[in-house]
Amino acid sequence: MSSVNEIRTTAIVLAAGQGKRMQSNVRKQYLLIKDKPVLYYSLKAFEDSVIDDIVLVVGEGEEDFCQREILDKYRLRKIRAVVCGGKERYHSVAYGIRSISWECDYILVHDGARPFVDDEIIKRVFDEVRQSRACVVGMPVKDTIKIADEKGYVASTPDRSRIWQIQTPQAFEKKLIAEAYEKLLAEEKRLHADGVTVTDDAMVVEYFMNMPVKLVQGSYENIKITTPEDLRIAEVFV
Ligand code: C5P
Repeated sequence: MSSVNEIRTTAIVLAAGQGKRMQSNVRKQYLLIKDKPVLYYSLKAFEDSVIDDIVLVVGEGEEDFCQREILDKYRLRKIRAVVCGGKERYHSVAYGIRSISWECDYILVHDGARPFVDDEIIKRVFDEVRQSRACVVGMPVKDTIKIADEKGYVASTPDRSRIWQIQTPQAFEKKLIAEAYEKLLAEEKRLHADGVTVTDDAMVVEYFMNMPVKLVQGSYENIKITTPEDLRIAEVFV
């Protein structure tokens, strides 16, 4: 489907993580929720959305398996590339961005381990990124958050009304995120030495492009499947 005014949007869906916290032999993106792999639900949401193209980032050697068992089996047609990810999440994102050789104005990055992203969330992000150039999905936290010191004592209690728990998709103008990630790869060693841990895409854009990032409402169901109890919760949501 061609989108509004021929502006084209690609989603990068990440599935190259090891999923060590799941304590399972099967990587979490391939575990089943009601007979279908976690990754299927994430890809299907983008397949049925306003997004034009999808890049799927998988673990080394998993390309054929994914092609056969997910893309062909469920007839997913918007996947333009299946690429091999890297050691850290940000390597996988960078390789996904580099693989885009087609027309693309905006990029949405999504964790393949978040199967409950829905059409409304994708639409909100899709609309907002055209206004703000950079936006991320999240939800206000429900619990009080404490900052700990290195000895395990409470160092401070930030104002809860301003704290958001960040989810994906995270969306950016393509030029902006591509430049930010190239800078990150070039300066990776320095960041590492400074003790900076990159855990999401907005951080990369904030840090290297000095760019404000808009928060967009996600949903409390848009969970990331990380530990075994998440899978039980997911069964209920499906
Ligand atoms: O490890 P974490 O739970 O933060 O991973 C979030 C998402 O990023 C998952 O969908 C995972 O498969 C993906 N990932 C990746 N490459 C990595 C690490 C994580 O594609 N090296």
